Order: sequence, then structure tokens, then C-alpha cells
Amino acid sequence: MTASAYCYTDCLNQRGMRGLPRTLPTIVGHAAVGIVEHAGPAITRVREGNRVLVPGTPECEVCFWCRKGRPDQCEHLLAPARPVAHRADGTPVITGIGTYAELITIRGTWAFPLDSALPDTTLTLLGCGITTGVGAAFNVGQVQILFGSIDVLPNGHVLVPENLNNRVAEYNPEGRVVWEATFEAPVAATRLPTGHTLVTSMNPQRGAVELDRAGKECWQYRADTRVTRAFRR
Ligand SMILES: [Zn+2]
Ligand SMILES: [Zn+2]
Repeated sequence: MTASAYCYTDCLNQRGMRGLPRTLPTIVGHAAVGIVEHAGPAITRVREGNRVLVPGTPECEVCFWCRKGRPDQCEHLLAPARPVAHRADGTPVITGIGTYAELITIRGTWAFPLDSALPDTTLTLLGCGITTGVGAAFNVGQVQILFGSIDVLPNGHVLVPENLNNRVAEYNPEGRVVWEATFEAPVAATRLPTGHTLVTSMNPQRGAVELDRAGKECWQYRADTRVTRAFRR
């Protein structure tokens, strides 16, 4: 890696959000410019020696969301952080992409060849900050935070986990909020036949939580790893 921007996502990762266990050590850094040292035989987009941009989020090109033309929602975004190394005492060092390392191993679809005279320190901003900001400005009013799974209810209402708002909201077909509950970084929400709501959080300490009709927690399943979806029969 030759340059890597600093992003709010790194702050979240340092605090153990976004699926990284709260225990350090971890390698932060999530958008960068670098040179390809080696490309596997199946890699067609980049070759050894290419100067490439590594964006903050993956685009696998083959999952449901990537094929649907929404690579911003690629399912690998929610993949658990990987152990990439061990300290001398055996402690695993984990990371999502970890562009603050000198070398990283990523899938071929996560690297984009660059053809520009701009310096690496400027181009690295294309990996997240610029694309996020420009996207929000150009698509104003159409911004969707779909980071997780929604539930379409039999009456046509939609239950949306709004992770950035720390709430789960039920919208009627006119787009009005008819029910809401406060919940930390929800990532999936399902309505149970009882009228209760089952939610999971981006915080791995939360596991799955059941909220009653008043939005109060009435049951919890604890897990040491992030639960991305939960169902109850
Ligand atoms: Zn970012
Ligand atoms: Zn994908």
C-alpha cells in the first residue's frame, strides 16, 4: 500500500463496531492506493505492477446485490472480519480490509487500475470519502441506507433496520413511519406472528433481540459473533 485515507469507518472499527470484536489488536485503514505485487491466475482486471485503487467496500460481482446493480450493498460488506496474522503470544490480529498494513490480500474485484497523474494521497480519497460525498450530493433525496435486511409485512408495510439512526422503523405504503423502536445499529428486522419484532445488531455483543409492541426488549440471544439474520418459528 502506498497511501491510505482515514475514514470514520476506521473510528468505528477501532471501537469494535462493524463486526470486529471489541478486543484489539486490529488493523484499520479502509480505502487506499497501492501497487499489485502478485495477481492470482484467475484475476483479469489487474496485473502485477498495476497502480490500483482499493475502495473501502467490496464488490464481489456475483452476490445477489452485486448482480442486481447495487454493489454498494455487496453481501461481503457484512462478512466477518478475518484473522490475518498472529502476534508472538498467539493473539490473532483481525481486519476487514486493513489498508494500513504494508501488504494486503484481497479478491481481484476489490482492486481498480488507476490511470492518473494525481498523487496517491489524493487518489486514495476516491476509495470512500469522495465517492460517498459525491454520491450523496448527486443522488440527493434518493439516498438509501439498506445496510441489512428489511421485512415486507403482509399488510404492505415495510420494516427497516436504520443502522445509522439506531432505530427500527415500520413504514406504511405512503412512506409514513407507523411504528419505531430505538435499537443500537440494527442490521436486520423481522416481524413475528405475535406482533413482536426480532432484530439483530451490527454490534456483535448484542446477538438477536426481541422487541415487544412497545419497542421494549423482552428476549435476547447472546452470541460472540455478529448475528446478521434471525428467524423464529
Ligand atoms: Zn470510508
Ligand atoms: Zn457482491
